[in-house]
Amino acid sequence: MKDATKLFGSMVFDDETMRQRLPKDTYNSMKKTIQDGKRLPVEVATVVANAMKDWAIEKGVTHYTHWFQPMTSITAEKHDSFISPTADGKVIMEFSGKELVRGEPDASSFPSGGLRATFEARGYTAWDPTSYAFIKDNTLCIPTAFCSYGGEALDMKTPLLRSMEAINRQVMRILKLFGNENVTSIKTTVGPEQEYFLIDKELYEKRRDLIFTGRTLFGAKPPKGQELEDHYFGTIKSRILDFMRELDEQLWSLGVLAKTEHNEVAPAQHELAPIFSTTNISTDHNQLAMEIMQKLAKKHSLVCLLHEKPFEGINGSGKHNNWSIITNTGVNLFEPGETPYENAQFLLLLCAVINAVDNYQDLLRASVASAGNDHRLGANEAPPAIVSIFLGDELTDILSAIENGMAYDSKEKEQMKIGVHVLPKFPKDTTDRNRTSPFAFTGNKFEFRMLGSASSIADANIVINTAVAEELRQFADVLENAVDFKHELNELIITSIKQHKRIIFNGNGYDENWVEEAKRRGLLNLVSTPDCVPYMLEQKNIDLYATHKVFNLTEIKARHEIILDNYCKILKIEASTMIQMCKREILPAVSAFSKQLSDTVIAKKAAVRTCDCSYEQELLVRISDLVGEVYSQVKGLEKKLDEAAFITDTSELSCFYKNEVITVMNKIRLAADELETITDEQYWPFPTYSDLIFKI
Ligand code: ADP
Ligand code: MG
Repeated sequence: MKDATKLFGSMVFDDETMRQRLPKDTYNSMKKTIQDGKRLPVEVATVVANAMKDWAIEKGVTHYTHWFQPMTSITAEKHDSFISPTADGKVIMEFSGKELVRGEPDASSFPSGGLRATFEARGYTAWDPTSYAFIKDNTLCIPTAFCSYGGEALDMKTPLLRSMEAINRQVMRILKLFGNENVTSIKTTVGPEQEYFLIDKELYEKRRDLIFTGRTLFGAKPPKGQELEDHYFGTIKSRILDFMRELDEQLWSLGVLAKTEHNEVAPAQHELAPIFSTTNISTDHNQLAMEIMQKLAKKHSLVCLLHEKPFEGINGSGKHNNWSIITNTGVNLFEPGETPYENAQFLLLLCAVINAVDNYQDLLRASVASAGNDHRLGANEAPPAIVSIFLGDELTDILSAIENGMAYDSKEKEQMKIGVHVLPKFPKDTTDRNRTSPFAFTGNKFEFRMLGSASSIADANIVINTAVAEELRQFADVLENAVDFKHELNELIITSIKQHKRIIFNGNGYDENWVEEAKRRGLLNLVSTPDCVPYMLEQKNIDLYATHKVFNLTEIKARHEIILDNYCKILKIEASTMIQMCKREILPAVSAFSKQLSDTVIAKKAAVRTCDCSYEQELLVRISDLVGEVYSQVKGLEKKLDEAAFITDTSELSCFYKNEVITVMNKIRLAADELETITDEQYWPFPTYSDLIFKI
């Protein structure tokens, strides 16, 4: 293993590198830009570009790229070389401030959700100086935002940065009211824990479903107890450990504070837990991590599955988005404080989050919507599709004492009053017991647990940042005009608790009774993507984004369209793959096995006329029934896909896939999976769950 301290960030043009390589005043302007979002003058950009180029060339780099995050889940790059011809026919290595700041990739191949129809096809990339440049595959990568010429966001980063600005504006108003003189800006922080599966590449390549859809469309449950067979794990371990070691090294060199771990839940499942960073950097890093995990797995003859539900009946993969707010002076604003004043500020911020989660449950749910994640949410392994917030008993009791003007501690006579009382200390570990909550307060941060493993974390953070910004805006409007600050503050907190306590739920989110209880409380239960995505276009949500300049109406409509379109495309591919696997693999294989059974019956009867052929005959009957079922459902599915081709409205089409197509797919799978359990394994055309999960 290489020296981690030397390795860490060695491929990043980070703060230390900048301090070493930039003239002092250039470094100071960069620092200002990074911290307070001040615009960087062109002269300064030129100096930075030059230093970046020299640094990269020393590391053997010849090309640079504007690295951006289009509205897919992956990142995009367009490589250019530093080489520039001179008058005497030679070349020099050049990289100008202009090239650093702006680029023009061909936008036409990225999804735009109709933005392209209304606006110019071309887009441009703009440097995000708040996220460090880095070297990957011998290329200098410049993190950039990606916009249309009209300024519409065509990517994930632009709205994420806008949402960070929005929450900064509102938190600063609040902090000012509480007299925090030395704070000049805040940033949201995120630590995303990433789950994934590793399977053998050779086996992967034998399954069309994994290749085309990233998940298994068939597969009977492996027999119980197999997971206890340790002898497979011996060989898994060394290969997987090699992979993990190299993954850590690569990520460290890119400045990602990662710790890869073996996860106990599902046999081939693992987790990558990075140390938190500001939201834009975390989002970049998570994209990088996903990309590198997939590339590196191949090198180790493994395949990294990022799908939310690669195997039915086995825990799927998600991301836990740990979220908080930090001041430029290094204070975590969700750390309950020591003084009454600090605690009043903490409680107000806490109420903003509670209100935000309640008022924008629909947007939070929509921010994690995808065909893949629909298999997970509410499946008793991941948070339910119902959004609620977990605060833990202590904090909930405190809020309730405040609401009712009662004493929190029964021994105390005085009632709980904001800005007067010091909050009792609540031990951190008691706040993190409940793993079933979608949105949990875990002592000094919130953990949003509904995110899918394959998507960017940007969408979820855009919603959290903007929704909290809105609640704080309303608070600040009241408090800035308050005659009696303490009184208004108390009122705001009490009103918030009264109006939004329905969203607080500390119980077991997997419990069936919760679904009923949530319904009584009037909470939404949006089980699928086509159910929740339409909420993006509710007026209150359009207003939210407009108020905080995060999305204009055109941009929201484009995103709404892209998510649903993506859902439909995934289902179409899954259905088509299923049809192909049935017609070309499963049915022919089972048919061949049936022939063997029939031949056996004939041969046995010919040898001994009275011979008992009940095994072969009963099996033949069951197989014929199941084959008949698969065959007729496959024909039905083909018909559905033909019908789907005539539906032009994306919302309507997404509902058609959800209601009509998925139902038939489930029937096919049910019959095919039973066939797998009764067909001679030598005939079965592709690796089974036991092979994939246990035999690496
Ligand atoms: P665990 O969940 O394993 O008990 P932690 O609660 O310490 O571990 O952290 C889980 C994740 O939360 C890590 O990625 C960590 O970096 C991140 N995290 C910790 N503090 C913060 C914070 N203030 N803001 C955002 N993320 C944080
Ligand atoms: Mg966690």
